Amino acid sequence: MPMTSTAAQLHPAPAFAQPIPFIDLAAQKARLGPKVDQAVQAVLDSCRFVNGPEVTKFEAELAAFAGAKYAVSCSSGTDALAMLLMAWGIGAGDAVFCPAFTFCATAEVVPWVGATPVFVDVKADTFNMDPASLEQAIAVAKEKGLTPKVVIPVDLFGQPADYDAILPIAARHGLKVLCDTAQGFGGTWNNKRTGSIGDATATSFFPAKPLGCYGDGGAILTDDADLVAVLKSVREHGQGVDKYENVRIGMTARLDTIQAAVLLEKLAIFEDEIAAREKVARRYNEALADIATVPFVDPRASSVWAQYTLRFAPGVRDALAKALQAEGIPTAVYYRIAMHRQPAYAQYPAAADSLPVAEGLCAEVISLPMHAYLDEATQDKIIAAVRRAVGK
Ligand SMILES: *Cc1c(COP(=O)(O)O)cnc(C)c1O
Repeated sequence: MPMTSTAAQLHPAPAFAQPIPFIDLAAQKARLGPKVDQAVQAVLDSCRFVNGPEVTKFEAELAAFAGAKYAVSCSSGTDALAMLLMAWGIGAGDAVFCPAFTFCATAEVVPWVGATPVFVDVKADTFNMDPASLEQAIAVAKEKGLTPKVVIPVDLFGQPADYDAILPIAARHGLKVLCDTAQGFGGTWNNKRTGSIGDATATSFFPAKPLGCYGDGGAILTDDADLVAVLKSVREHGQGVDKYENVRIGMTARLDTIQAAVLLEKLAIFEDEIAAREKVARRYNEALADIATVPFVDPRASSVWAQYTLRFAPGVRDALAKALQAEGIPTAVYYRIAMHRQPAYAQYPAAADSLPVAEGLCAEVISLPMHAYLDEATQDKIIAAVRRAVGK
């Protein structure tokens, strides 16, 4: 996912073309109308910028939406992941299994707590964690004298991971399952929403995510009441009876009241937006299936289409990105470098020396503009440009 501000800023269209945004936050803002402004103004008037009533209300609505008992809001998706590792006491000598094809934050939090990320290959069809590679990674971790503790399946590009396969492996090896649904919040696996699967789920409200706020934000979802109590302490400097009694090492990781107010308005239209994204994805699929490998969604899953990602033969991908850019059509490559090949992460173990699927995808994937407000005319323009660029 984009790491700075909005995708529109990351992918500026040439000045001569009518700019097509990669993700159209302005269209969403226009649809929400004065509601968001009023919600933000109400917080400004109340001056309850931290821990205001909107935060509690949003947590309740978010948990209900996901089908989880509890939601603990926080400052970002990355902090949500870190808070869980801290709350579970993960540390030196512990192995945490992460897919090699993901945004860096999934693995970044592991060395924060002194534990070791162990990289797992992904499946060629869904791009999500490969259960067979997870088994290999667990064996590698044990050989290295590490204690397998947590697996972090990622719901990449909006599609839930294969929880039918991953949950039994985790149970067999005594691993906690921390679902990273930063891209997949709102998606389902066997008709259960992400956030209600595994031991706990971390999500992000970065503006470009399917459910985004107007800055940074995140949340943890779980059914575990004891865990919630620890998370709330971690979120507030390891507080005991109050912030001035410190019973553990924590952090300052609250969600701003203003962001909660924004999210309450956005959550109200989220289901409708998911349906609109699904429609866009289906049209892309129909129009492009004969010239590219279009996304595969497992029949047990539904995706929220955080990204609409095509695969082309290596070499074709970069030429296509260039051709589309010349026509004012932004594209993005998530991800160009697999995690186990990143300079900062190459030192950590992986299921094998080479993770061929993740490495291959890095050369083949390209994401097209995708959002709930992509009208058919714009979509047709994008489709025609893709076909022209590959000579079909
Ligand atoms: C965006 C993202 C995160 C981090 O979320 P932030 O809110 O940006 O910290 C974590 N994991 C994945 C898979 C992501 O896409």
